[in-house]
Amino acid sequence: PMIIGAAGLFVVMFGTIFAVIRSSRDFLELVASQVDAQQLSDENSRLAHVGSLTGLPNRRRFFGRLHQAIARNAPGARVYVGILDLDGFKPVNDVFGHVVGDRVLVECSARFSQVAGDKAFVARLGGDEFGLIVENVRDEDFVLTLGHQICEATREPFAFDDAIAAISTSIGFAAFPDAGETQRRLYERADFALYFAKQNHRGRAIIFCEEHERRMKGSALVEQCLRRADLETEMSLVYQPLHEAETGAIVSFEALARWNSPDLGEVGPGEFGAVAERSDIIYPLSRILLRKALKAASQWPEGVQLSFNLSARDLMSPAALTQIIAIAASGPIAPSRIDFEITETALITDFERARKAILALKSIGASVSLDDFGTGYSSLNYVHRLPLDRIKIDRSFVREMETSPLARDVVKTMISMARNLNFDCVIEGVETQEQLALLKSFGCNMAQGYLFSRPLAENEILPFIDARESLGLPAARRIA
Ligand code: C2E
Ligand code: CA
Ligand code: CA
Repeated sequence: PMIIGAAGLFVVMFGTIFAVIRSSRDFLELVASQVDAQQLSDENSRLAHVGSLTGLPNRRRFFGRLHQAIARNAPGARVYVGILDLDGFKPVNDVFGHVVGDRVLVECSARFSQVAGDKAFVARLGGDEFGLIVENVRDEDFVLTLGHQICEATREPFAFDDAIAAISTSIGFAAFPDAGETQRRLYERADFALYFAKQNHRGRAIIFCEEHERRMKGSALVEQCLRRADLETEMSLVYQPLHEAETGAIVSFEALARWNSPDLGEVGPGEFGAVAERSDIIYPLSRILLRKALKAASQWPEGVQLSFNLSARDLMSPAALTQIIAIAASGPIAPSRIDFEITETALITDFERARKAILALKSIGASVSLDDFGTGYSSLNYVHRLPLDRIKIDRSFVREMETSPLARDVVKTMISMARNLNFDCVIEGVETQEQLALLKSFGCNMAQGYLFSRPLAENEILPFIDARESLGLPAARRIA
């Protein structure tokens, strides 16, 4: 029953019993109330086209409407296609169940329709994805304002009997004819803008622009080069230490991938990671990197762990996971020295499968950390059901802490909740002594960041450990 609230952070509040709809009658009324009066005038057509749950037009009708809109667009005017996606919807479904999930969808649909009024056509494309068509636009600001109003509309939490679900909406828009002349191109570009919004401007509306076009082409190029790459020689790792906050002792080194491409030069994981995941290159890549990291770690003092990042794809594919586990179990260091870092994406995709994957990793004696905590959808209510060892609070919070008292409260709450659940709590991205002191006062027991060290090359690690020892800093050891 403890709650935290922060922008972008998915928050769930609940007592012991989840909200359930008391009777199917309530539910039908709720659905019925969403039906647009105009559509009722043509009941047959409505039944053929609306999504049964929300009363909104479905995907097929969305594309039908887009076709018309393009055909009748006046010269000099634009048609904007928007794709909306609810941030944090899936965990609502997982935590509260489908009945509540459906109610959120119905409620969102109602709010979207209300804001859109006669300014835009709203459809449900499937799942928690919605579509917008805004016709006859002569001013981009009109679309952005509408988009922001729609995003605002979901910001108000959804209250049920015993539950409050906070979600947000991100929107990507693409304009006809600028971004594309066909339905398919427009949809693709709106979808890319949405992806971009989710990465960089979660909870907001953005319009596909030149920069996105360059990025789309850029990632196509990265993919081409990655497909031809000799992963074994072109990929390498650098290592960044994790420290015990109180003593400064080194607990672990986190392996971070680096790609030296003959065609593109140095490419960071921020650029090639997503591409490797979208293509299937992530699978061989993870195996190659894990072997390299284990070999490096075999040179370190016994007490020092290896932290290794797994992608959600690794975790979700039973075949890939089996191979990862086999490599870890038969490598040159004891598996108990390996800590696998996983991200929330996996948990959101399929909670049960992620839980099994964590158990499988732990069955060989490895530990598991949840990385980038707070950026996605996790609430600790959700996380406490997982057999995790550590939580790594995302570095964006540390940055924001300096200026935002809210961020400070959120960090403090996340730390105390993690500690109450007996998880180690790591803060990433610690850059100053002041930040460290504050975080320690909140009860955080581990830290990582430029304050201690930048990521190091393999041959810099032993000298780094020695230098710290000669400064009287405690030798590396494992946290009890
Ligand atoms: P991450 O796991 O959250 O890694 C931490 C990132 O923060 C690293 O960037 C690191 O260099 C950077 N960092 C560390 N301390 C500080 C600090 O004090 N201030 C600031 N501003 N940044 C700091 P990097 O190496 O570019 O990695 C980015 C992301 O790429 C990683 O985020 C991780 O999600 C992914 N990644 C990296 N290596 C691998 C890998 O081998 N496998 C997988 N699956 N993902 C990887
Ligand atoms: Ca990590
Ligand atoms: Ca992280």
